[in-house]
Amino acid sequence: MPQNAGIYVHIPFCASKCSYCDFYSLAGQNDLMPKYQQALLHHIAEFAPRLSDYTIDSVYFGGGTPSYYGADRIIELFEEMKKRYNVLVNSEVTVEVNPDSVNLANLKKMRRDGINRISIGVQSANDEILKFIGRRHNYAQAEKAVEMAQKADFKNISVDLIYGLPTQTREDWSDTLTKIFALHPQHISCYGLKIEENTPLYLYKNAPEIPDDDMQADMYLYAVEQLEKYGYKQYEISNFALPGYESKHNMKYWTIDEYAGFGASAASNLGNTRYTYVKHVEDYIEAVLGGGKIVAEFEEIEDYEKASEYLMLGLRTTHGISEAEYRKIYNSNFDKIEELLESYRKAGWARFKSGRWSFTPSGFLISNRLISEVIDLHISQKFNYDSPWNKRDYYETLI
Ligand code: SF4
Repeated sequence: MPQNAGIYVHIPFCASKCSYCDFYSLAGQNDLMPKYQQALLHHIAEFAPRLSDYTIDSVYFGGGTPSYYGADRIIELFEEMKKRYNVLVNSEVTVEVNPDSVNLANLKKMRRDGINRISIGVQSANDEILKFIGRRHNYAQAEKAVEMAQKADFKNISVDLIYGLPTQTREDWSDTLTKIFALHPQHISCYGLKIEENTPLYLYKNAPEIPDDDMQADMYLYAVEQLEKYGYKQYEISNFALPGYESKHNMKYWTIDEYAGFGASAASNLGNTRYTYVKHVEDYIEAVLGGGKIVAEFEEIEDYEKASEYLMLGLRTTHGISEAEYRKIYNSNFDKIEELLESYRKAGWARFKSGRWSFTPSGFLISNRLISEVIDLHISQKFNYDSPWNKRDYYETLI
């Protein structure tokens, strides 16, 4: 029976750089777009034999700014996939758009071609803040983008928001959420601002304009409460959806399902291998069209590492983790991990329901620390697992 897999296409072009962004994306290099498109089309066609045993149930065009790259190019890429791969008719097909580079005609065109999910980078409803962080749009444009997507018959619309932005108050954040609820998107992502080195915003790292950790925590918990009230169920640290609208594609990352990436710096997880393509656009074009080296990193994943990923990614979701799943991947003792999770439960950070462990909103707030403690414990057990008595083949002779 064919396996399901997702496809991710990275579009690393933007109209300009936002001051907080440390993703790999290029501004002002539109002249590279035609060659990049040619490389993507070639790569998609060339990769067909690798995906012949798979059915494709999700496609995601992310970036960068795919809407700036252009609806016609996105459609051309999707057409190539439909021609070469077994793309299921009810696949979830998402395109990320920014409010300043989207219009009704293009949305309608994409919808007609089978693209059925739009993810809009709104970030805030406060125009001053949007200007501060270098966004090219104001809130009125963001609101219009959501309305246009609805008019173009998109029934699955996601909105990205950021909290903890410079000068943002709790009232601002509350106002942003209220305005977004009024637009009735099916999915909302709320990310805490991270000030990364090598971004212009880093100058403000310890500035009074930046809400402190307590304020950020307060904003997060407030959002979780409000989203719940308006019917958006949390299914991952930063992601909330009306029932049935959880992102199928993003769930693949958190449940370690398979996906193939295309484009500069895109990652893939196929079979037991993970690999990432070269980071720079020119190198990717040269690799695909000129026969150069395309893979920058490659690793085969052993059970032990797969179990680390399972713990790390599973604990980001409200579906959480279970002993049975852990032992299925990596047949090691779960008792110590369970003891640790029990101590989190007593502290109000974790819950145990129907055989599964997951974090509460207060646990999600400090999940980096908690997850690394769980992983440390998993690592400390590697020695025991690797002893001859615990080898899986030995174990299997006993059952
Ligand atoms: S539009 Fe998105 S990818 Fe582009 S610079 Fe802004 S945050 Fe980064």
